Amino acid sequence: MHDDWIALEEQHTSGVYAKIPLRVVRGAGARVWDAQGQEYVDCAAGHGVAIVGHCHPQVVAAIREQAEQLITCSEMFYHAHRAALQAELVALMPGMERVFLCNSGTEAVEAAIKFARLATGRPGVVAARNGFHGRTMGALSATWRPEYRRPFEPLVPGFTHVPYNDPAALEEAVGPDTAAVILEVVQGEGGVRPGDGAYLRRAQELCRERGALFIVDEVQTGMGRTGRMLACEHYGLQPDLLCLGKGIAGGLPMGAVLIGPRVGRLPHSVHGSTFGGSPLACAAALATLRVIREESLPERSAELGTSFLSRLRGISSPLVREVRGRGLMVGVELRRRVRPYLAALMERGVLALRAGPTVLRFLPPLVISPDDLEQVARAVEEVLKSPIAEGPEESDG
Ligand code: PLP
Repeated sequence: MHDDWIALEEQHTSGVYAKIPLRVVRGAGARVWDAQGQEYVDCAAGHGVAIVGHCHPQVVAAIREQAEQLITCSEMFYHAHRAALQAELVALMPGMERVFLCNSGTEAVEAAIKFARLATGRPGVVAARNGFHGRTMGALSATWRPEYRRPFEPLVPGFTHVPYNDPAALEEAVGPDTAAVILEVVQGEGGVRPGDGAYLRRAQELCRERGALFIVDEVQTGMGRTGRMLACEHYGLQPDLLCLGKGIAGGLPMGAVLIGPRVGRLPHSVHGSTFGGSPLACAAALATLRVIREESLPERSAELGTSFLSRLRGISSPLVREVRGRGLMVGVELRRRVRPYLAALMERGVLALRAGPTVLRFLPPLVISPDDLEQVARAVEEVLKSPIAEGPEESDG
């Protein structure tokens, strides 16, 4: 193999990623190792995908077993794992009736938008400022950040953005042309901003009153991340369409849309996916759901998240503007750009993420140990002791 994979990747990669010079070779639980054998506590977790930890033995066994039987089988045929998974996913939220399986978060959002337009016969979608829903054209139209949107305009018509946690703005925006309101329960990429329960409930109610559908995007908050299996449970929300992704299949690509009764039955051929619901991904997802339940990961996330948040809140640093989050979805907003602090954390054996230019974001596997979380908190404390000089201005895209 080519020794210098960094140079090789640099030569051929598309260029759309702001890359970090780390050569990752192996993962187990909440840890990953680089090519030199250096160990890291992984609070990036594949952008929150490794909910059950890296290479969970039950997920690995399920993938291995299924890979020897059948890897691909389109949804035009039936498969036992898909049938079982669909039943389990629908049961995650009482009242849900069906599920559409795809391969990523953005595809789940794309499908939910299409289903909402189809079911209501209306074009409009109301989304929130600082919301993030993905990068394909429909999902991107619901995403807020101008840097992501502008180069690709014109986007899909009919989308408007209102301030998050502002019920009056929503009242104003939802009208007779609105097919759907789409919201996150905790805005992830937009800065780890928890939604207000009364606001989210009002959004749901407004949709019911005005004939629109309520889409909740739980791609990042789902599968136990915020301390409940679904973040909707914190507020008793009952959306019409619920989007899932990231950790749902233990690291294999999968997205899903749970579909409620107000959507009605979808006609044949209006949507589809070649890879959606593959036996391999379904086997991995069934194993993942089993692990989440057997290891009580939502409860674990709630417990560890509460102590991690209060530990971080106890760090006294003039650099910190706010510490916020829910379960093991945690953000530390700085008065500085976070890039150099992420690099300093990495030097101390901790991988973390950004959420916008000034928020450090931690999305550790829910199996992380209290000791590892303490190591993360200590590293954060150390790097925040004194301001780090900012390098030359670079894009935060
Ligand atoms: N929706 C939310 C809330 C997300 O956080 C993300 C990704 O971070 C997406 C959608 C898009 O998911 P994917 O990157 O799998 O397309």
